[in-house]
Amino acid sequence: MAIDLVSRRTWRARPPGGSYTQLDSTRGVKVHYTGGRVDPAIVRDHAKCVALVQSIQNFHMDGNGWIDIGYSYLACPHRKVFEGRGLHHLPAANGAGLNSGHYAVLGLVGNAGLTVPPDGVLHAVLDAIQHLRDKGGAGREVKGHRDGFNTDCPGDRLYAWIRRGAPRPGGQEPPTPPQPQAPAFPGRLLKFPPVMRGEDVRTWQKQMKKRGWNLGVDGAYGADSRDVCRRFQRNQGIPDDGIVGPTTWRLSWEAPLP
Ligand SMILES: [Zn+2]
Ligand SMILES: [Zn+2]
Repeated sequence: MAIDLVSRRTWRARPPGGSYTQLDSTRGVKVHYTGGRVDPAIVRDHAKCVALVQSIQNFHMDGNGWIDIGYSYLACPHRKVFEGRGLHHLPAANGAGLNSGHYAVLGLVGNAGLTVPPDGVLHAVLDAIQHLRDKGGAGREVKGHRDGFNTDCPGDRLYAWIRRGAPRPGGQEPPTPPQPQAPAFPGRLLKFPPVMRGEDVRTWQKQMKKRGWNLGVDGAYGADSRDVCRRFQRNQGIPDDGIVGPTTWRLSWEAPLP
């Protein structure tokens, strides 16, 4: 899904009060939260996201005396990414001396009210990070504001997510390889003597050969097959009667390879 950007014009940002310091590239991105209470009602009302972003800008410009909102981008619960200072501009939110190393992305959650980041916020943070990597020269690092700076930002929930590698919500765990499963037991014991012939013998011989045993696949269960069967049974710690019964049959497929 492409990034859903909210331009400065759309959120009616004030123009910056000075010129930005240019930034060619960064080591990565630092993630932030508001550090205050966020009204949980913003989850149901994007207009409240807009109002909150505007109030953050006002606080940064009028309270902190910064030229603009301190963040590069801001991520809301509706998976929208508000344009802050944007690409190739030095942020102000990471702390003195730390801004040229990382862009700053805020997730719209706080230390009260809305504290658990909704999936939309996490997706939007990741969309912003991808955008900064694609177009802003951001490196691979994803850190929290508290990394290298004395603050609790971005809060325990966002920080724990970052420490887990900032996974996409709802992403699949890497699939575990399917367990090998034996075909159905043929219903007769394969044994020698006398020589037994059949497709079941051939199927078992083929599997043993695949496991690395030196055995011809001729569909005839003779002395060679019996000896391989015995050695396999000893390897598996089961009675070595040289007869392929249900257990030996199953283990021929399902026992882990040495
Ligand atoms: Zn912060
Ligand atoms: Zn929103």
